[in-house]
Amino acid sequence: MQPSQTARMEAWQQCAESAVILAALTQLQEDPRPTALAIAEVLPAQVRQVWRLPWENKHGVVGAGGHGWHMKRGTTCPCGWQHAAASSRYTQALQLREHFFWTCTGASAIRRAIKHNSPEGVQLLPQHVWLLVQPCQTVRKEVWYAVCLAALTAMHVKS
Ligand SMILES: [Zn+2]
Repeated sequence: MQPSQTARMEAWQQCAESAVILAALTQLQEDPRPTALAIAEVLPAQVRQVWRLPWENKHGVVGAGGHGWHMKRGTTCPCGWQHAAASSRYTQALQLREHFFWTCTGASAIRRAIKHNSPEGVQLLPQHVWLLVQPCQTVRKEVWYAVCLAALTAMHVKS
């Protein structure tokens, strides 16, 4: 495996872990790691399918919830949020992904719109949006991929 492929796989694994851990904060789940590992194992094949979709990705957020994406040092989210300056770069990256692509007011509004248009009873979790996991089997995966692309792009360019 090429070093860049190894780095990508590690970033996707980290993204899967943070998505599942974030979801576990609101759900009763004993150990999120097996779920994260299962998601990360199928993610490369799903991302290859997404890359075949005719979609502009000028913001570089496609595939795994903006892994590797970062704000310039010293900048803040348009809502005013800023990661903890004293934390490590790794922790800052996790905080940034969680805030920008999940908890920020703009991201929350996008999540509400997706939920509003989802089948009744669907619970929308970070792994659904960040990692292309269909929230229910009645949603076609190609449609869900487009929803994820649109959501991540909108979360990225909001403000
Ligand atoms: Zn924000």
